[in-house]
Amino acid sequence: MKTLNLEDNKLIELQTAHKLSYKNKDTIQSSTKCGCFYCLELYDTNILTPADFVAESDGSFTVFCPKCGIDAVIGNQYPSLSITFLKEMNDYYFHY
Ligand SMILES: [Zn+2]
Repeated sequence: MKTLNLEDNKLIELQTAHKLSYKNKDTIQSSTKCGCFYCLELYDTNILTPADFVAESDGSFTVFCPKCGIDAVIGNQYPSLSITFLKEMNDYYFHY
């Protein structure tokens, strides 16, 4: 990964949000909208089906994006969720 000159606060924000893309069934289900930082789509959580929740080895579930199939979904329980924020996540986590 190349070194990015991100402000420390921004980096912490991205890393905090990234944790919410994993084992996130509960936070997604308590959100009304969610967004994927791989395909940069925002959509209502009510389009998710049981098949979009994939079991982890410890019995918790991770949401996989119904649009692109990647586990990069964050709910709008996360206050900064927006297309702009998803693009920042995408740049940091997928464009290295
Ligand atoms: Zn996606």
